[in-house]
Amino acid sequence: MSKFFLTNFKFKMKKKKIPSNFIYKIINKDLCTKKCIKIRTRFPPEPNGYLHLGHAKSICLNFQIAKNFQGTCNLRFDDTNPKTQHKKYIEAIKNDIKWLRFQWYGTVRYASDYFDKIYYFAIELIKKNLAYVEELSSDEIRKYRGSLTKIGQNSPYRDRSIQENLYLFEKMRNGNFTEGSACLRAKIDMKSPFIIMRDPILYRIRFRSHHHTKNKWCIYPTYDFSHCISDAIEEITHSLCTLEFQDNRQLYNWILKNVSIQFLPKQYEFSRINLEYTVMSKRKLKILVKNNIVDGWDDPRMPTISGLRRRGYTPSSIRAFCNLIGITKQNNIIDISLLESCIKKELNVTAIRFMAVINPVLLILENLADTYEKVIEVFNHPNNHNMGKRKIFLHKKIYIDRSDFSEKQNILYKRLSLGKKVKLRHSYVIIANRIEKNETGEIKTIFCTCYKKYDKNSELKDSNKIGVIHWVSAKNNIPAEFRFYQNLFTHVNPDNIKDFLSFLNPNSLKIYHGVIENSITKNHIKYPIQFERIGYFFADQYNNNKNLIFNLITHLSKKWKIV
Ligand code: ATP
Ligand code: MG
Repeated sequence: MSKFFLTNFKFKMKKKKIPSNFIYKIINKDLCTKKCIKIRTRFPPEPNGYLHLGHAKSICLNFQIAKNFQGTCNLRFDDTNPKTQHKKYIEAIKNDIKWLRFQWYGTVRYASDYFDKIYYFAIELIKKNLAYVEELSSDEIRKYRGSLTKIGQNSPYRDRSIQENLYLFEKMRNGNFTEGSACLRAKIDMKSPFIIMRDPILYRIRFRSHHHTKNKWCIYPTYDFSHCISDAIEEITHSLCTLEFQDNRQLYNWILKNVSIQFLPKQYEFSRINLEYTVMSKRKLKILVKNNIVDGWDDPRMPTISGLRRRGYTPSSIRAFCNLIGITKQNNIIDISLLESCIKKELNVTAIRFMAVINPVLLILENLADTYEKVIEVFNHPNNHNMGKRKIFLHKKIYIDRSDFSEKQNILYKRLSLGKKVKLRHSYVIIANRIEKNETGEIKTIFCTCYKKYDKNSELKDSNKIGVIHWVSAKNNIPAEFRFYQNLFTHVNPDNIKDFLSFLNPNSLKIYHGVIENSITKNHIKYPIQFERIGYFFADQYNNNKNLIFNLITHLSKKWKIV
């Protein structure tokens, strides 16, 4: 076998690597033992907010299983609560899934498509004396339910006759009860060690118009009642959900055992992901949006898919992150740098380089003529010359970043300081002679000499390696706004804190006004780019035409700090 063929073969093998988590093992076994022939999964979001990274993990898991096992994955909206759900969320969720490059099987499905069937299954349970109409208040229901250490108590309405229950359920359906005054409960076991099995609620009253069924219903099935039935109707073979539904599996199986449905899907649970220094629940993210703490669901600091997209994360980097963290049964909180490492790895290869000065200070090269202009051709990517070249301009006046100059000399400081030499990236070595300050003591101008003929070797001999700094011509540039982001919260796990809003990071957004090389075009900013020595950035989608706005995706290294 030729060497070329071998490396190519290995590459293909690597590309096709299939995960080996516990769910893949279960599916492999089910296929080997012919327990199922075709794998069918589903992604079941509740349309009550925008998708976040946690959902991305579930999307990757469900859609990739379908792909890897030549099965199918449905998209089904769990739209059983018209109180919190909205059409705009449905559109946003569909858009996010497509953006992640996944396609659901057939048409979009809704739990509400099955409301008729679910209703008849409720009647079936009543007829089997396995469900009853409850008239205790929600507080009383809670009290009667007991706790982990106290068994529950039967409701005084539990032993109503089947006829009475059928009559009252019909009354519920016809709108003859007020919201909260009655509900339908399964009759299971108030002494069960699983609290979920202590007569869970199957139907509740909501006088709300539903985005799909309009005013047809005023009673709506609960998640637990509708979910297993929807899975069975769609013949889902592996119904994957997060760990907090582990106990609900008892109820999932109980319902399917007791209604006349042929197909029996199986539920498996995996751990949720939480990311450090952020909250990961639609409810809490909605609080940030509603209180204008962030600039909408797609604020680049949000862990939402739309926020990450606006910030400059790519679909492949999010998929890579989800695959990297894997699927386990241990709930874990993930270091944000893991997400950053996925985008850095990708953009290191794909992003075009430019120079930008974020917080500019004027630098005058005293020994150059006022009309001096040098055109320098540089590669757009240091390691991939196929990405082309561009022209940059050196003039007598240039800008450098304030953080690249220090008045005091320090042997460890590898940038510019008085009497010290640095190299301008892609250009000459310079030395700083003197500075001028304004009335407030801030440095206004740095005066330097430029070495057009510089002997690099002599410098290398007598001192440490010379530093390199980026710069932009003061004559030839494009002004831009740079938005630097930090974590939204100062607490590592705000999701665990009731008063999570008291841990908001006041420095989560800092705005700077600077300049970029003028070789940057509209085409370039359609993609994430690298500003050399600083980080990866992406042009904000709400850029007004007056000013370019760039969102920081991630720093190149923690060493370069802005002042
Ligand atoms: P949230 O609390 O953010 O509303 P949820 O679980 O209620 O989350 P759904 O829209 O009901 O959100 O979830 C759709 C799917 O995404 C479910 O299968 C759910 O288990 C999964 N999911 C939601 N959050 C996470 C997470 N943090 N990690 C992994 N999977 C998640
Ligand atoms: Mg939910």
